[in-house]
Amino acid sequence: MSKHPEQHAKKALGQHFLRDHSAIRRIAHAVPEGANAIEIGPGPGAITESLLARVGKLCVIEMDDRFAEHWQGVADENPVLSVVHGDVMQELDTTVSSLKPEWIAGNLPYNLSGPLTAKLAGFPLSGGMVLMYQREVAERIAADPGSKVYGGLSVLVRHFYDVKRLLTLPPGAFSPPPKVHSAVILLTAHGRIPACDYKILQKTVRQGFAHRRKTISNNFRGSISAEQFEVIGIDPRKRPEQIDYDSWVKMAIFLAEKQGQ
Ligand code: SAM
Repeated sequence: MSKHPEQHAKKALGQHFLRDHSAIRRIAHAVPEGANAIEIGPGPGAITESLLARVGKLCVIEMDDRFAEHWQGVADENPVLSVVHGDVMQELDTTVSSLKPEWIAGNLPYNLSGPLTAKLAGFPLSGGMVLMYQREVAERIAADPGSKVYGGLSVLVRHFYDVKRLLTLPPGAFSPPPKVHSAVILLTAHGRIPACDYKILQKTVRQGFAHRRKTISNNFRGSISAEQFEVIGIDPRKRPEQIDYDSWVKMAIFLAEKQGQ
């Protein structure tokens, strides 16, 4: 196998390299042996090496030229691996639709957490995803209704997946150490067919959480009346953080029908 490139970390690309062996093992072992997987941001390859030893096929998406070129060199010798050299936000849709992975893994660049998770949660993979975040973001993703940190992402990830926090890691598990703790989220496909389209749910959640402190009736003023809330069985005086996934879906279906979608 070719040598790793120089491991100087680029702050702008959110590079904090994982060096905790037990965490690396747990992340890689969340992906079943023989699976067809994508890894986002392999960097110098802490997780990549372990994944390569398990999976049937692995595609890595990396923006940093040093790492992308290194992994391309490995891929030239190993047919299990393929490389997409570019920005995951631009490349993910086409990579997922052409490779049809069962699993996605990654120690995600922290600056992309929100938009990248909203994108990831919309892919109905047959297996799941194992993703590392700053702890605070992981807490938001795994939060249940009623929690102060429950928000749009907590709703969206439940569309296709069951959510679980797998482990929490201190800054010292990385080089260079980030300022905050990190946590790994495991999303496992629940296999239920959602009652509405993901894009419509996403739009509904965006509108419904626009003002966290307002009631949903206020957030949907002009779109869903108090009477219409009663008809779909949702208390319009509730705040968005009190609304569970099933109720978000009811609102999404109502809005879609109203718009003739
Ligand atoms: N997987 C390695 C590990 O765990 O040690 C590196 C993780 S590091 C937190 C994030 C990785 O994502 C880096 O390799 C970085 O270059 C890459 N990255 C950052 N922004 C990216 C983007 N927009 N598209 C693709 N890769 C990106």
